[in-house]
Amino acid sequence: MSEAVSTDLRELDALVVGAGFSGLYMLHRLRNTLGMSALVLEAADDVGGTWYWNRYPGARCDSESYFYSFSDRLSEDLLEEWTWSERFAGQPEILRYLQHVADRFDLRRDIRFRTTVTAASWDDDAGRWLVDTEGGERFAARFLITAVGCLSTTNLPEFPGRDSFRGESFHTGLWPHEGVDFTGKRVAVIGTGATGVQLIPEVAQEAAHVTVFQRTPNYDIAGGNHPVTSDFDRRIKDDYPQIWARTRETAFGFPYDVADRTALSVPEDERQEIFEEAWAKGGFRLGTTFNDLLLDEDANETAAEFLRNKIRERVDDPEIAEMLAPKDHPFFTKRPPLENGYYETYNRENVTLVDVNRSPIEAITPAGVRTADGEYEVDSIVYATGFDAMTGTLFKLGITGRDGLTLAEKWAEGPRTYLGIATHDFPNLFMITGPQSPSVLSNMPVSIEQHVDWVAGCLRHLRDQGVDRIEPTPEAEEGWVAHHDEVTAMTLLPRANSWWVGANIPGKHRSLYPYVGGVGVYRGICDDVAAKGYEGFALS
Ligand code: FAD
Repeated sequence: MSEAVSTDLRELDALVVGAGFSGLYMLHRLRNTLGMSALVLEAADDVGGTWYWNRYPGARCDSESYFYSFSDRLSEDLLEEWTWSERFAGQPEILRYLQHVADRFDLRRDIRFRTTVTAASWDDDAGRWLVDTEGGERFAARFLITAVGCLSTTNLPEFPGRDSFRGESFHTGLWPHEGVDFTGKRVAVIGTGATGVQLIPEVAQEAAHVTVFQRTPNYDIAGGNHPVTSDFDRRIKDDYPQIWARTRETAFGFPYDVADRTALSVPEDERQEIFEEAWAKGGFRLGTTFNDLLLDEDANETAAEFLRNKIRERVDDPEIAEMLAPKDHPFFTKRPPLENGYYETYNRENVTLVDVNRSPIEAITPAGVRTADGEYEVDSIVYATGFDAMTGTLFKLGITGRDGLTLAEKWAEGPRTYLGIATHDFPNLFMITGPQSPSVLSNMPVSIEQHVDWVAGCLRHLRDQGVDRIEPTPEAEEGWVAHHDEVTAMTLLPRANSWWVGANIPGKHRSLYPYVGGVGVYRGICDDVAAKGYEGFALS
């Protein structure tokens, strides 16, 4: 395959949108493994994706660093060379890692920065995608691969008067590169999801006063972050082959096995000991203590009550503790944040918690935030209000398939995909960690690698077979959507108003966006499809 450059239109084998984990690895596979001509278009002025944009105080990953990285699929040497400094790496370190990957594999020369894709249309006669950018450039490519991330379109709620605020306001997902000095300031933080929980303790140490506006309390789990010792680093590096093998087979892409027992099969005191042990280890291990926490309400309630009691132990004021203790959804049906000192923050004199369920935000005023109970005057507002997840960014790409059908039209009643990776009427389009794939219900680098490797294998197959076009059949797509819905219905996940089901965005179709069948199971299904000559796809 070769690259033909014309003065008007650059023709490529493949065009990738996004230069985070997904886009970097996809480019490596396309160019360095398959020898295709490929270009990455990236809105930012550097690589990193999530870790480029989310620079708020306290930003760090909730997957342990040693497996929140590329595996031996990319390079064993890189694994040996790179040493993480903390158990849960902070944003600056992850960004440095991704910059290092870009340099080490010479990826930058095929990435076009400051280039935002605004439209992508399938040209059925020529069998190619035509891609337009904000700057007025146009590219053509046989394959379009979206690597735009699941959490890359910020959600800024439409509070009346939002723009009238006289002070400074920030969204955590678009944080100023130079940082923000909150010293001596009165700060409002809106949102207590995974981001708010990381940010609030940091800002509280600096600001004169922090007022936290909470809609839904979450089951936050102790992170237990600490520096990585050289002993631990060595042990992990020696163990990597086994670690990666496990991440690929477990339900969530973590190298933790889920215990083969149900919560109510053990006596109460033993169950508490099991929870305590997992709690002491920190991180998401609590979710692996029993195999029915996501399936059975009574089982789930045992973990939920354990976590509520942890909050009650740590927060001095019983009334505030009850405000922070979730009661309206089962544990793990919303993304549980990891916290480092979050609950103790509410014991500080300079922190106030406002329950906006009881007293909703009515407006943003020039002076601050007005709720049904009164006005809170502040100097700064931080919106920790998350993202229009999974589909928000895909829709913004302006993708139009065969016969003028847009992706937004096709998915008006929720995503319809085959394997979460492709969709009928949109030939030669692949979506890395698309909706209805494990994506955000997994340790994402594992799912990203699996998708990229699968797409690369598929492109090699097409080349070997002399095939130009690939597209899922309507029947295969229907089958996958039905399977996705069936697996979803077996779990408690539809019960919560989470961003996983689109509940944070007014008017968004409600369905579970990620696939909950498990990383290992899903990989098996994808491998099987490939082994059967890409069963369920029409090749022509
Ligand atoms: P991204 O990193 O989101 O990169 C997508 C890129 O596409 C961006 O650079 C964006 O600028 C670009 N782009 C989008 N639209 C366009 C366009 N129209 N034109 C041009 N470029 C475009 N995952 C975990 O597994 N574990 C964690 O602990 C974890 N913590 C997280 C913490 C935060 C604060 C956030 C926001 C996410 C976290 N995630 C975590 C999820 C994280 O997004 C993924 O792990 C991973 O970084 C996704 O990589 P990606 O390359 O697929 O997407």
